[in-house]
Amino acid sequence: MAKTLSDKLVALCAKRGVIFPSAEIYGGVAGFYDYGPVGVTLKNRIREFWRSEFIIKMENIYEIESAIILPRIVWEASGHVESFTDVLVECKKCHTRFRADHLIQDTLEIVTDGKTIEELAEIIETNNIRCPNCKGELTSASKFNLMFKTFIGATEKSENEAYLRPETAQAIFLDFRRIQQAMRASLPFGIAQIGRSYRNEISPRNFLFRLREFEHMEIEFFVHPAQKDAVPEDLWEKVKDLEVSILSIPLQEKEAPAERYKATDLFKQGIFSCKWLLYWTLISYDWLVRVGIDPTRMRIRQHMLNERAHYAADCWDIEFKYSFGWKELQGIADRTDYDLKRHAKYSGKNLNIHLTDENVKIVPHVIEPSSGLERIIQALLESTYIEEPERALFKFNPYIAPFQIAVFPLLRRDNLISIARNICDILRGENFLILYDEKGSIGRRYRRVDEIGVPFAITIDHQTLEDNTVTIRARDSMQQERYAIQELIDFFKTHLKFT
Ligand code: ATP
Repeated sequence: MAKTLSDKLVALCAKRGVIFPSAEIYGGVAGFYDYGPVGVTLKNRIREFWRSEFIIKMENIYEIESAIILPRIVWEASGHVESFTDVLVECKKCHTRFRADHLIQDTLEIVTDGKTIEELAEIIETNNIRCPNCKGELTSASKFNLMFKTFIGATEKSENEAYLRPETAQAIFLDFRRIQQAMRASLPFGIAQIGRSYRNEISPRNFLFRLREFEHMEIEFFVHPAQKDAVPEDLWEKVKDLEVSILSIPLQEKEAPAERYKATDLFKQGIFSCKWLLYWTLISYDWLVRVGIDPTRMRIRQHMLNERAHYAADCWDIEFKYSFGWKELQGIADRTDYDLKRHAKYSGKNLNIHLTDENVKIVPHVIEPSSGLERIIQALLESTYIEEPERALFKFNPYIAPFQIAVFPLLRRDNLISIARNICDILRGENFLILYDEKGSIGRRYRRVDEIGVPFAITIDHQTLEDNTVTIRARDSMQQERYAIQELIDFFKTHLKFT
């Protein structure tokens, strides 16, 4: 059977030590992956690009790093203990457990977003859906909480119950007052957090798409409830000319395809609950395109009313057409004042802001762009993977590529090796990410670095000994040009900078 794109990526990533199953020598654990040197660097590059654009270059976004394990009360207040659940069915014969909505989607190829437990159970019964492995009968549907539970301290008493965070957002609400006061922040401002989240997914699958441990990059952006359309001109300027594919509620109701919209028309037509939500959606979309994700495989879909969280005024997903279908890459929600009010109630603390100009206390509203680093990596791998007759390669943007420059002495001769190592030192001194290799045929070395998307390779050959020039080979065109060694730093500074 022909290999799917997803299979090829899994195999290539394992072969090159990019990303591979955790505890692999024990057979692996579903939903957990380890990153080798190339994977770690790729992840770091994407994370740093996010940090650069959404924190460093923005005046009013403050980054925090919070605890991963938090006591039960936090998750009661947030609503996760009660409702962070998926619906589960189990095969009575082989005891495999399935996520009911996924099982229905796979069997009947219908959309199940927002269906209640009763509705899912009814679909399974009326269509007589059985275990896909052994055709066994399924148990009735039950709710399964996705949080990993643990205990703090040496006694497993209920008052010591705690959970690994399923999202980084909640700690932002807990730290809101302290950050706002410490940074003397006035509305609108955001608090960002990048870090691991944990979800005990019933059926992790599709490589990096549905994991049990993954990395969130989230911003809670606090706005005055009466100024949710007050996006400053200089920020709007950055997104106003974008054109995007939109799948609004009315289009979904008509089962119509996504339609192209200009940003300015989206605002005028009032399709989003507020301009700040629209701004964060567009700027997030634009960032994803700049990372290298194929815009022709992206659309922005509004949550239907029955799938929208009860506290959200509006919610949109930036979806990517993965090799296994259109799926959520990133979510952007208008969470209103729900979270701050819930934590104020459960903690008994004031989580409002005193606006001195108006002499009123208000609880800000929150716009939340929330993305998962691994889903971005998977979309990027799928967007940039190319097969050519003689080679397979990832066409990563040069500024995202895990390694930027490969350095190869043509032959394993001392005089070539010492120049090559010297060039490595010079380029490492400029913080370029270098991969040095002196073993094997030059053709194979090129293929190997193409497979991990290194945009440039320098080769040191006999002519170098005569005139201090080297060749620079471009990954995409495979063209080689000669440059003087003194020109290298300038060449790479120009070709590898963030754009
Ligand atoms: P889904 O409906 O696919 O389960 P979600 O709506 O629960 O996703 P959110 O809670 O909105 O996801 O989380 C925000 C982002 O975190 C998602 O857009 C995605 O990028 C990432 N994410 C969520 N769950 C996972 C997971 N199990 N594995 C990898 N990334 C995830």
